[in-house]
Amino acid sequence: MPTRMCAVCRKRFEKSELNRVVMSESGEIFYDRTGKAQARGLYICRECVREAEKKRVFEREYKRRVEPSVYERFVSEVESG
Ligand SMILES: [Zn+2]
Repeated sequence: MPTRMCAVCRKRFEKSELNRVVMSESGEIFYDRTGKAQARGLYICRECVREAEKKRVFEREYKRRVEPSVYERFVSEVESG
């Protein structure tokens, strides 16, 4: 099974255990529920979903300012399944 690193805790997990986040060409950052969007992605494990904002992982990865609402939407989308 392919593994990927969680962008928050830096531990490795199987892809199926991770939540993928991507940034579209227009600069929108969103939860990639299918894991297949053709865009630059990062992965966050279940335990770190709520830590992403504190660690500013989207800013680090995408080198830009990210509104708190982007993190809030990510958390709520992941938690709603
Ligand atoms: Zn993690």
